[in-house]
Amino acid sequence: MKKTPLEEWLRGKVAGNHDGTLAEQIDRYQLMKLRETVAYVREKSPFYCDLFSGIDSGSAMDLENFSRLPFTTADDLREQGRRMLCTSQDEIERVVTLHSSGTTGQPKRIFFTAEDLEATVDFFAHGMATLVDPGATVIVFLPGELRDSVGDLLARALVRTKVNPVVWGPVRDPAAARAEIMKHPRPCLVGIPTQMLALARGDLEGAIPRGWVESVLLSTDYVPEAIERELEQLWGCRVLTHYGMTETGLGGGVECQAAEGYHLREADLYTEIIDPGTGLAVANGEEGEVVFTTLSRRGMPLVRYRTGDLARLIKDPCPCGTVLKRLGRVQGRIAAEVSLKDGRRLRMSDLDETLFAIPGVLDYMAELEVRVGRDQLRLCFQTVEGEEAQVARKARSALLSHDATSALWRDKVLALGSIGFSPAGWPGTGVAKRQILDRRGDSFTLTASRHIHASRLNEGKRINR
Ligand SMILES: [Zn+2]
Repeated sequence: MKKTPLEEWLRGKVAGNHDGTLAEQIDRYQLMKLRETVAYVREKSPFYCDLFSGIDSGSAMDLENFSRLPFTTADDLREQGRRMLCTSQDEIERVVTLHSSGTTGQPKRIFFTAEDLEATVDFFAHGMATLVDPGATVIVFLPGELRDSVGDLLARALVRTKVNPVVWGPVRDPAAARAEIMKHPRPCLVGIPTQMLALARGDLEGAIPRGWVESVLLSTDYVPEAIERELEQLWGCRVLTHYGMTETGLGGGVECQAAEGYHLREADLYTEIIDPGTGLAVANGEEGEVVFTTLSRRGMPLVRYRTGDLARLIKDPCPCGTVLKRLGRVQGRIAAEVSLKDGRRLRMSDLDETLFAIPGVLDYMAELEVRVGRDQLRLCFQTVEGEEAQVARKARSALLSHDATSALWRDKVLALGSIGFSPAGWPGTGVAKRQILDRRGDSFTLTASRHIHASRLNEGKRINR
């Protein structure tokens, strides 16, 4: 099995600085970069100057001191964005504006200098070597029209490694997308999970034959395992996933061929896993909220940024033999969970694993409401044409029997309401974030968003979501 190419990439970054093993060199490199970053933002950004006032974060700062610095959140980005900038506006090459359902209604704006974007291209170039060799073709089903958009940066990275990029953009016309795929023997596809699922499942007449696609890279915050399995089965290809969001600089981490967790962009990001309630570090290997600090960002560095994503660091070494860390499968976002009556929670990711496993499902929406004093879950599916009845039947039985959800019905914490179908639209157009819509009003308990607000968690909007 090929070792993750990110190891060589990182070796090049830390080389010349230190003695010791590569793992030790990485640790020392990261600590040095953390000190530099904290000193840099204190000097350049009014926001960080205020945030860290009175805190000793000098050159003697160790990880212990660092872990006591205050967090930053998506709300800070919305409310304090410009004060977080560390360069003049002239030096900003690209601004990404994310309209999400934040508590203030203001969009998040993330600023990048040319140097920041170059770091992303560099990461993409090395990360993609996991999947493709020179001469291969990669069809990019991510937004790529604009200069410095994610698809454009990826294309530039691929050209640099002598791979042929075809930037298609999000799938709006599935037949045209399939025709493009059939023009390139053994392509690698990069796309959004629900869109790739729909390409594989929909329209049997124009189906892509098994064995045609060489590999797929799914890029998003979290990927339902059910979608990965289905793509592997239908297309007979390797499916790997990439974890990232605009805040991480679009790229964040990518699986190696072992497909057992993300190798992180450790040259540019320092990652912590914290208890979302207490804010303290969890024990190594425990699940918590992913918090990262940028190590090389110039325009708008982020220090201890709370992503709202739930995951764990995997303790065991990766089968690929690298010394790099691994982040386990992201279990969804904290904002994509809802609290039910007796403190139990329902996760979008549990619904995803159950519902995407049903043949014929292309996408769905989930909604919670109160009916006759009880929480009720309503579902609206997009399916392959003619599959509606069997999807409704299988969805009911799957939800009632699935490990993660069966107790909720059995204990009458939740009722299953109507199942509807939405005929129009192509799944996952890349704008709406997938989460359970909570329509229960303020009648009782904390809704997800109020819970988030109360604990100053954020709900980061991910690229292409
Ligand atoms: Zn690995």
